[in-house]
Amino acid sequence: MKKRVLVLAPHTDDGEFGCGGTIAKLIAEQTEVFYAAFSVCELSIPSHLPKNILETEVKNATSVLGIRNENLKIFHYEVRTFQSFRQQILDDLVNLKTETRPDLVLMPSPHDIHQDHSTIGLEGIRAFKQISILGYELPWNNLTFHTQSFVFLKEEHLNKKIEALRCYESQSDRVYANESFIRSLAITRGTQIGVPYAEAFEVIRWIIE
Ligand SMILES: [Zn+2]
Repeated sequence: MKKRVLVLAPHTDDGEFGCGGTIAKLIAEQTEVFYAAFSVCELSIPSHLPKNILETEVKNATSVLGIRNENLKIFHYEVRTFQSFRQQILDDLVNLKTETRPDLVLMPSPHDIHQDHSTIGLEGIRAFKQISILGYELPWNNLTFHTQSFVFLKEEHLNKKIEALRCYESQSDRVYANESFIRSLAITRGTQIGVPYAEAFEVIRWIIE
């Protein structure tokens, strides 16, 4: 079983949406989980809110999932500009690999069409090609998604995911930021494998020791 897991979130909250239940489950099983967010999207924050509100919210959300504060790394790339900083992002990922020594990396699916997500997905495969990699699901950004791998979730893991996403009050007007959507997707993925709840992943690399 995997002992050290690194989650790559292009923007704060992508990791919670894509694999928040899995993170909660891994932590309950004593796995060391690291979370790297590459943007706090300062240019997308409504003017009446503090520019760094997503930094506060990601700290709270990852803490709800059980990620230790010292395992949270925040970079400050501007939203929708990642392609212009491709090499710098690759260097950051290589440094993250040295710092965290993961045996599993969770990142956006190669079928994710958001420009920042696809930069993290591509550079992530370059940086972590010798390590197991699973691509997480964000249905509003995936033109297609191969449900090749599943993580069973218990009610308590799903509840932690929902609670973590509630920390993003500045993002609460997005259509997918609601409990019934999150719960329905977990039920859909669980139904595919005959359990109450699951999260699905694409297998990008899988290494068996
Ligand atoms: Zn994102």
